[in-house]
Order: sequence, then C-alpha cells, then structure tokens
Amino acid sequence: MVGQTESLLPSLWDDSHSSSLDPVAELIYASNLLGSDKRVTNFGGGNTSAKVRMPDPLTGQDVEVLWVKGSGGDLGTATRANFASLYQERVLALEGLVKARGLQEDDVVPLYNHCVFGLNPTACSIDTPLHAYVPFPAVSHMHADAVIAIAASKDAERLNQEVWGGEMGLLPWKRPGFDLGLMLRDLIKENPGIKGALMQSHGFICWADNWKECYELTIRLINKAQAFIDAKTTSTHPFGEVVRDRHADPRSFLVDFLPRIRGKTRFEGKRLIAQVDTSAEVLDYLSRGKMEPLAALGTSCPDHFLRTKIRPMIYQPGDDLDASLDGFRQTYEAYYARCRRPDSPAMRNPNPSVVLVPGVGMIALGKNPQEARVTGEFYRNAIHVMKGAETVSTYVSLPEQEAFDIEYWQLEEAKLRRMPPEKELSRQVAVVTGAAQGIGRATSLKLSSLGACVVMLDRDGEKLGQAVQDVQKVGGVPTAIGVTCDVTDPGALESAFEEATLAFGGADIVVVNAGNARRGTVAATSADDYKLLNDLLMKAYFDTMADAVRLMQRQGTGGSIVVVGSKNGVAVGSNAALYSAAKAFELHLMRSVAVDHAKDSIRCNGVNPDAVVIGSGIWNDAWRKQTAASLGIQPDEIEAHYRNRTMLKVDVTPDDVAEAVVYLASEARSSRTTGCVITVDGGNREGFLR
Ligand SMILES: [Zn+2]
Repeated sequence: MVGQTESLLPSLWDDSHSSSLDPVAELIYASNLLGSDKRVTNFGGGNTSAKVRMPDPLTGQDVEVLWVKGSGGDLGTATRANFASLYQERVLALEGLVKARGLQEDDVVPLYNHCVFGLNPTACSIDTPLHAYVPFPAVSHMHADAVIAIAASKDAERLNQEVWGGEMGLLPWKRPGFDLGLMLRDLIKENPGIKGALMQSHGFICWADNWKECYELTIRLINKAQAFIDAKTTSTHPFGEVVRDRHADPRSFLVDFLPRIRGKTRFEGKRLIAQVDTSAEVLDYLSRGKMEPLAALGTSCPDHFLRTKIRPMIYQPGDDLDASLDGFRQTYEAYYARCRRPDSPAMRNPNPSVVLVPGVGMIALGKNPQEARVTGEFYRNAIHVMKGAETVSTYVSLPEQEAFDIEYWQLEEAKLRRMPPEKELSRQVAVVTGAAQGIGRATSLKLSSLGACVVMLDRDGEKLGQAVQDVQKVGGVPTAIGVTCDVTDPGALESAFEEATLAFGGADIVVVNAGNARRGTVAATSADDYKLLNDLLMKAYFDTMADAVRLMQRQGTGGSIVVVGSKNGVAVGSNAALYSAAKAFELHLMRSVAVDHAKDSIRCNGVNPDAVVIGSGIWNDAWRKQTAASLGIQPDEIEAHYRNRTMLKVDVTPDDVAEAVVYLASEARSSRTTGCVITVDGGNREGFLR
C-alpha cells in the first residue's frame, strides 16, 4: 500500500530478567530477542558476540574469551550450544600468521580450531573476525531489511550520512571473512566516534560496552532506517503502477501448475517440496510494472540468494512451462559457465528455487517444507529491501561474480556436505486416508519418521487433529497437515487431494486405507450396511485411486499407491459377505491400476492384514459384539481368540501393518514390485495368496 508506515521496533529489553544473567547468558538473551523479529534479521542470518573475561581452565588466570554465534542455527532460538568460544588473543594473533604466510580466506577457517577456549565443539562462523576485531565487548551484526535497503541503494554512501548522521561508518561490499574483519578494525581506528558500520549490499554491524546498550543501539539504528524510508514514501509506488490483474481462479491454477512444476524441477532424480505464498504483499509486488526488471537484477544480501538463487523465474500463466524452464536453466548454466573458477564445486540444480506467478503468488521450492518456507521468507526479505531501496534511491544488486563466489564458496559446499544424510522418504509427499487412528495413524507416523510430508485424511476431525499433532512431533509442524474429509464424498475427496497439492506441491505416495466393517450374510445385510460398505470400501477406494493416478500423471514422476485390503479379500470370513466381497474388489482394482499405470511408473500394491484388534478403529463396540457372538465367545476374549488363531501365536498391531505399507511405499525398498500383496496376519493358511 502506498504511504504505508511500517511500525518501528519496540525495545523489549527487561532489566529484571537480564540482571540475574551471567555475561554469556545475557548475550543469548539479547540474541534471542533480536532474532525473534524478522524485521531485525532474517531466519538464520546475522550473528552476535560478547568478549568476556573468564578463568582459563588450565592456568586459572583470567583471559578474554570471544563468545560468538557459531555456524548454522537461528539467533531467535539460539542456546549456549550455538555459540563458539575462542581465546580472543589467539584470534587477533592470526593476523600476523595470515600476512606472513599469505593465507587465503578459506585457509584461515581451519585455524580457528587452534583458538578454541574450553574445548567448545561449536564450529565458529566465517563472521568471527568481524566480531573479534571490534574493540568493544558487545557486537551485533544484523540483516535488517530496512538497513539493507539503504545498503543496497545506488548512493548508499550519501544515504548513510543522511540516515545516521555520522553514527555509522561504511564498509564497501566485501565477502565475509578475515579481510572484512581487518577492514572494519581500520575503519574504527580512523573513525573513533562511530557506533556501527553499514555493510554495503549486506547489512550492518554495531557495538557497545555492554549488551543492553548494544541491543538498544541495534534497534535504534534499524528504526532510523525505517523512519527514513517511511518519510520518503510518497504516493508514487516504488514498484510502479499496477499493470497485471489478479488471476480469476488462482486455486485451480495452482492445483494444475504445482504438480507440473514439481515434476519438472527434479534434479538428479530428486524431487522438491513446494510452498506457496499468496500474501497481499507478494501479490502487490507481482502486479507492478517494475517487478520484472527488479526481479531480473537479483537479490542482494548474500544470505538471501544462497537460498533464492541469484534471481527467480517469472512464469506468466498461459506460457509454455517447458520453454520457460528451459530458458531459466540455460541462463543459469551460462552464469555458472561464465563465473566458475578452476576449483568451483559442480553445478547444483539449475532449476529455479523461487517461481513468481503474477496474479497468483510466489512458489518456493526446497528439499523439505522448512527449507522451502525459508527460501520464500528470504525472497520476501528481498522484496522489502527492493521496496525500501527504490523508495529512497535506486536498488542495486551484487556484481554477478561476487554472487557466484558466495553461491559456490568452498566453505558453503563443505557445509552442505557436513549436513546429515537425507532420510529415505525425504522430498516425498504421502496422502493417507483414514489417518486418525489404527493402521492409518501408525502408517502416517512411520512415513513421517522416514522424512515424508504427510497429508492425513479422516472424517473424524477431532481425532484427526490429535493424530496430526502426533505426526508433527515426529517430522516437525510444517511437514504434516490434516484434512477433515469423508472419502465417500467424491467432491470432498477431490478437494482433499487439492489441499495436498497446495500444501506441498503434489503427492508421491497414496495409502488407501479408510474403512469400516459390518457383519451379515447376503440375506441379512441391511440396505444401510450395504450402502456404507459399498460407498466406503468400493466407491471410495476407487475414487481415491483415480484421484491419486490423475495427480501422479500430472506430476509425471510416477508414484506408489498402497491399498490396505484384508485376509477376507482372499479367504471369505463367515457372516461377512459384502465386507469380504468388497475387500476382493479392492485387491483386484489394485491389480488393474498396477497393470494400467506401470507405463506411468505408478506402482500399486496391497497389504492384507488380519486379526489387527489392538489399536484398530474397526473394532468398535458393535463389530466386537457381533464378532464375539458369531464366535460364541465374550467380547473381552476377542484379542486372545485372534492371537491364538494365528500360526505364529502373536498379536498383529497397526505398527506391523504400517511396516509393510512403508516397504511398498518406498521407492528405495520396493521399486521393482507392483501388483503384489503382502500379508500381515501372524500367519494364516487360508489367507495365503496363490
Ligand atoms: Zn551477514
């Protein structure tokens, strides 16, 4: 909105809390306060430090220790374990060594290990010298959008004076590292009055005698930038006039588009997870005349484009997606070829990680929802920066070679290689019906523990809510959603698949599980029971598989459908005519899907459980009583009866069934298997498949 005034940051410092803290705890307190507000610094960006005198563990003598935010992690949630501790004297002494030996930036990093104080295992970040060479106890380096807007303006030097009136020095753009630390030290020496330094195309750093002062100063310097931008805001929008309309039906567009782009942005066989941002702020940016030229300039803060890539892809609805992607990839490959150095790491995925669709929104892609979200968040940061810079001046991005050198920095590559290996079902999206309890819930938990994103469907919203929370505890909140849905309603089912697509970009695994059971011979099956079993076990299984196949076809990357059948599908149970027939229908339908859609690389398999009493949703009071009556036993003897009926004399649990479902769902385990049924019944001769 033109003329909108962003609210200034309040100080949240609480003396009554901070007074009880030791200096390191105070540093963490300040860091958490600063990192919790995305206007102060982006996720995972910025760092803080404190120089603290403490006794050396060997000599007992007081030494100066640099406590500095380590590599990785976010300031907002940082704990003591996220901070490295170094002998300040040794870090400073590195200068002599670096100069004497002519060491390059990347050679300095391993030397920090020789400076570690107190055997602290936390790896320090490349920004360590930036903190060490500031001769003040408290130092704060932030990536505030409002400040980067000034730092990424064409006339940053003049604006620096205008905004902060000599309070801040200016560090020209320089890749973070040892040299930047020395440049900052010299800047402070030459300008002893400054309280901070604007870092061109990057952010700022400031310092004080203690952390309370440093926190207040950080907030005040950011507010000055924001107030300056607000004061320059006029009725002329910095992104120009609105030149594009909103899409008439963005939901339908996304439902069609997301699986297609997800399928086409695979790299080396690896899929991505999509997150969509349709916020008013993003839509406004996309609608304006200057969006395209600004987006083409690329993002500025190094933290931003490590995730967002140097620039996003713009896709106009109606364009040929293959041609758009080809164009983007060629541009990226040319950029890599132009800028690569002899020792550069190999080219990474040349596909976009941010796709802008005017009128619809922004799609961020990442290896999991968390990464995709942060990527989207970073591009929103970039929008704020461009908006601020265009309000006060003209936005400038990093020179291409500088951007490349950061994107393909050996240290970043090493960081990527140090990351824990991805889980087996990472980058996969699973849809599970009947997920609130029993086999569906157990399967969802197992899929999540292996790294899949899970979309859980059930008609019991309350139970589903609890089950979703349980799954989120395993995989993280962004990795699971629940959709309250009666699968016998084809419209509701179709929209549940749409929700899966909107949440993660598509689906790779579909577990067809929602079921129920009724006793009855053909003569004794009521019309109501007939309708229930027909709707749920036949029609809904059919519809779920049809929706799954259509979505997987749109995605074009194959997939795995797992049908939860029953022993009754092979060996009829007494007094369960329609239930048994319906279960046979499911297995045969599964085989049809396997036959018809092998050409689409869609595998379809079944699991035949039996005697799953413990933890099963089917064993409600009615079914239990009816079954007990049929067997001539008491309802509480059911568990023992079924256990004794198995050849192995064991209980069969939802977890046991989930194990087989996951085997069939997983490309890594069963990529050569389709049209197959696995029994999970403790051994049942009648249930053997022939
Ligand atoms: Zn930084």
